[in-house]
Amino acid sequence: MGHPVTLIPGDGIGPEVTNAMRMCVDAAGVKVNWEVHDAGEKSIQKCGKPLPEEVLESIRRNKTAIKGPITTPIGKGFRSVNVQLRQSLDLFACVRPCFYYEGTKTPIKKVNLMIFRENTEDLYAGIEFDLNSPEVNRLRALINEISPKKVKEDSAISIKPISVSASKRIVKFAFDWAVKFGRKKMTVVHKANIMKFTDGLFLQCARDVAREYEGKIEFSDCIVDNMCMQLVQKAVLYDCLVLPNLYGDIVSDLCAGLVGGLGVAPGANYGEEIALFEPVHGSAPKYAGQNKVNPTATILSAVWMLRHLKEDAAADRLDNAVRIVLKEGVSVTYDLKPDRNDPSAVGTMQMAEAICKKL
Ligand code: NAD
Repeated sequence: MGHPVTLIPGDGIGPEVTNAMRMCVDAAGVKVNWEVHDAGEKSIQKCGKPLPEEVLESIRRNKTAIKGPITTPIGKGFRSVNVQLRQSLDLFACVRPCFYYEGTKTPIKKVNLMIFRENTEDLYAGIEFDLNSPEVNRLRALINEISPKKVKEDSAISIKPISVSASKRIVKFAFDWAVKFGRKKMTVVHKANIMKFTDGLFLQCARDVAREYEGKIEFSDCIVDNMCMQLVQKAVLYDCLVLPNLYGDIVSDLCAGLVGGLGVAPGANYGEEIALFEPVHGSAPKYAGQNKVNPTATILSAVWMLRHLKEDAAADRLDNAVRIVLKEGVSVTYDLKPDRNDPSAVGTMQMAEAICKKL
């Protein structure tokens, strides 16, 4: 019997990178029963809904899913399917490993960071009130009544909820992961000097949880703007970072840049029982259908999926095959060549084939 896995190819370059990933997982010798479902633009064309209930049912049943990126219209249209998936399935922990692989274009070498981003609340919760809406007018009136700080009439408002339960849950998840994978240090990232109640609460929760791991994992905290500067200058001094949702989103992209860019940055989202794996990058619509982009981020996401499925030997083999192909730098996509116009760059599927040959 194979592992049942829901596969969402996604939009733009999604179908190409997920096809490449699927070929590599199959070649690694792991039996997977792929249950393929559309979400996003393709699903809107088919049935008018960006995230049909059957997709959520499939993931709830299989408990493991992997997806390509899904396009989110900016400032209009449907709300992010990615955010909906995380919220509907309570995938509260977003994990982004940022490891240096030789052959990638990096400003510094030897970065080895694990990033844990809270996935369900903060400004990302989607609690927003539009300019001139009756709701924003009511909310503004209430705020102006109860707060000494006034909100201007021509404002839109987003709410930043941070709870004790969600904050402790992500920090505990991060510490447990750190212990399991033999990590040494945890840094909580915040802006509690300015957002004393929300980020202050996140920091306090982190300190409370950290006490349970004293002697096992070293604990520190850092303000997010300082953290960005520290990461650019001396990322190698850091080990694990845990952050609220919005900072986690931004800082993990910064860290993706430190290890070679979006083309090589994998990601995973975990709930109590369900795990959903996906590359950090988006659907890059301008490259869609060209067999051009780098499949590494999605293939490395599958490496973490294989670990989750307790297929550690296959995960190690696939990780190593990627490592060899990146180091050789021959059968790699344009973004991994020293010159992006290098005519020897190969396509998405050709890079995946080269990885399969090293398995
Ligand atoms: P993007 O990641 O799609 O692309 C930005 C640039 O990064 C591309 O133009 C390309 O130069 C490079 N890039 C991305 N993936 C690459 C790859 N695999 N290989 C080589 N180069 C790669 O970001 P964007 O343009 O801001 O977003 C496009 C769409 O994707 C938006 O609709 C956005 O909402 C969505 N998005 C989805 C997810 C997700 O599904 N998890 C994540 C981020 C963005």
